[in-house]
Amino acid sequence: MTTFSEPSALGPRPSAVWNALASVPDPEIPVVSITDMGMVRGVSVDGEKVTVTFTPTFSGCPALHVIRASIEQAVRALGVADVEVRSTLTPPWTTDWINDAARERLREYGIAPPAPAEHGLIQLEAEPTPCPRCHSFDVRMTASFGPTLCKRMYVCDSCKEPFEGFKSV
Ligand SMILES: [Zn+2]
Repeated sequence: MTTFSEPSALGPRPSAVWNALASVPDPEIPVVSITDMGMVRGVSVDGEKVTVTFTPTFSGCPALHVIRASIEQAVRALGVADVEVRSTLTPPWTTDWINDAARERLREYGIAPPAPAEHGLIQLEAEPTPCPRCHSFDVRMTASFGPTLCKRMYVCDSCKEPFEGFKSV
């Protein structure tokens, strides 16, 4: 690294780190970023060291190491040598952390965005999930678990198309 005469041998601004992380795609659903999904819980800059704390969307998703490596790579691209990536499961990730723009992109991508989770209530019945194509509520769940533990498989009785939906957690 070049040494500048300015005394700014410190790390990047936290906002620059957040911006960099906003370009890291969700490994499961590349149309949204890890910040869109609410996975990044904290960024701290201490001198030249940057620490990023994230919560994986679903502990069953086999993408933890991918997310970790992508975060590290994005922060290193800012010229930071000392990067620590921590994962935390408390509090657990909730679909409520997905931002509105990401919900819209999920819908365009053909994945039904999750209904708001009912905090404090145990949902015994599946939340109503409209078909992302024709918006009909005339849908049936065909499997609790889709290709990954994150999603459910549905079929729409109106347009007869199968689709994936998020589990609300
Ligand atoms: Zn439909």
